[in-house]
Amino acid sequence: MPDTLRQLYSADPKAGYLAAKAEIDAAVARVLASGTYIHGRELAAFESEFAAFLGARGCAGVANGTDAIELALRALGIGAGDRVATVANTVTATVAAIVATGAEPVFVEIESDTMLMDARALEVVLRADTERRIKAVVPVHLYGQACDMPEIVAVALAHGAKVLEDCAQAHGATVSGRTAGTWGDLAAFSFYPTKNLGALGDGGAVVGGDAGALERVRLLRQYGWRTRYVSDEHGRNSRLDELQAAILRARLPRLAAENAYRAQFAARYLELLAGTPVRLPVVAAGRTHVWHQFVVRTAKREALRAALEAQGIFCGVLYPVPIYRQPGYAGDVARPLTEKACAEVISLPLHPGLTVADVERVAAAVRAAL
Ligand SMILES: *Cc1c(COP(=O)(O)O)cnc(C)c1O
Repeated sequence: MPDTLRQLYSADPKAGYLAAKAEIDAAVARVLASGTYIHGRELAAFESEFAAFLGARGCAGVANGTDAIELALRALGIGAGDRVATVANTVTATVAAIVATGAEPVFVEIESDTMLMDARALEVVLRADTERRIKAVVPVHLYGQACDMPEIVAVALAHGAKVLEDCAQAHGATVSGRTAGTWGDLAAFSFYPTKNLGALGDGGAVVGGDAGALERVRLLRQYGWRTRYVSDEHGRNSRLDELQAAILRARLPRLAAENAYRAQFAARYLELLAGTPVRLPVVAAGRTHVWHQFVVRTAKREALRAALEAQGIFCGVLYPVPIYRQPGYAGDVARPLTEKACAEVISLPLHPGLTVADVERVAAAVRAAL
């Protein structure tokens, strides 16, 4: 690799910090001087600002996205003996959180074009659940595109199942003009540093309009306390600290512009890669995509990855192995479209730290490699 070429990665958390350095440094200094480091003004302000951004009724900050899913499911009454329907081409966290509640995951097939939960496949799985053990559905808005929420909510409702949206990759995405995270009973967000809205450490939130369930998340995130030192129920320690909340407040005003920046890069990739052998991402009608990942598909993934690495371009693969094929969660199911997607997906660099010239360089390298 010529050493004049800058290395490109599928994510760049430092660029996110540098873009808002003055605001973030001021926010950190403010918290350090305040003397309150846990559950103070910054958290309360972030919760209301983030809810307002989404158009959601309420928000409760927690320690990370995995906890957000687990505590939201527990707040919705999910536990041992229940089953929860989700997809297998997600990060382990989605399923680890389901298992942490005591429930058992059930894997629903994906749509072949969007690679998101297929509402019709969900309906088939729910119909087959004659004992009504599937008490919740967790659609994952993977890569930045929201699932077919009108259909998924309707199918779940008809079965009496709750809906918890996994929004960890979809801050600001919409379906039918409504934000991802406002369709289900509750929604879970992650603020891991590389997400579209990232902290500089761990962070997460549960969002939703079910005030009772959200109140329950607030108990569960701190030992089950309603009143200090008295646990109403068995809770956890899962707190979003003041430093992270203040950093998120400093970054939130940029989120819409950063999503637009990502969309501009995605549009350029789509233009430059049209007509090549890679299968390009598809955005379904009525949806907006926030391009957490720009995922193309090819059966020659490893060859493409090696060719790009030789040019200093490092791609991610989200996710190579379906959850039910991983030793820790092995299950006796087969979802052929899910398996095909896992075998073919590769994420090209796309984040707000890039330039259009970087995108053009990557696209040219992809063309040359194939
Ligand atoms: C990142 C992510 C999570 C987990 O979030 P953490 O903050 O890392 O716990 C869950 N689901 C999806 C789809 C994610 O991308």
